[in-house]
Amino acid sequence: MSKGKLFVISGASGVGKGTVLNRVMHLRDDLSFSVSATTRNPRDNEIDGVHYDFITKEAFEEMIRQDGFLEYSAHHENYYGTPAGPVRKLLEEGKTVILIIEVQGAGNVKRMFPEACNIFIIPPSFEILEKRLRGRGTDDDESIIKRLDIAKGELARAEEFDYIVENDVLEEAVADIITIIK
Ligand code: 5GP
Repeated sequence: MSKGKLFVISGASGVGKGTVLNRVMHLRDDLSFSVSATTRNPRDNEIDGVHYDFITKEAFEEMIRQDGFLEYSAHHENYYGTPAGPVRKLLEEGKTVILIIEVQGAGNVKRMFPEACNIFIIPPSFEILEKRLRGRGTDDDESIIKRLDIAKGELARAEEFDYIVENDVLEEAVADIITIIK
């Protein structure tokens, strides 16, 4: 068993996982965030190596062959994965590590690390999720419809998680997550 503790934050696309986690990391600088790799294009405000490691499909597939991911999945027509090496190293050092991944990936991590704490973030309602996705302005209509369709299936899996946190008022969701981590 590793010395550190692993927290997995999951939930539908647009539910605010990134925003909540940014606030949590701001308040708790002892936490280590694992940067995922993805083959999707960076959005305007995203920085390579900070929000994601943006890599090519070929590089991603090579990492799969080298067994370089703790888990990965293909969704929204792109690969997303958690590089294994950095996470294992941080846990060995006794660090508290946070991953943000989608629902299927969260389940895969839990199978590999049964002691991981999986937190599921839900929106106040499906209508609000749709409004947030549209308000984000980062996806076209077709992509939003696909994300909402996937979100329906994901929301149905909330009960597989150790904790469910509603992201209605941001600071309350942040406080809930900090309490869970404590
Ligand atoms: P986005 O394209 O909006 O940044 O992310 C789409 C989805 O991919 C989100 O639900 C996000 O949590 C998920 N995701 C991000 N990183 C990873 C990862 O390392 N592994 C998996 N399985 N999903 C991820």
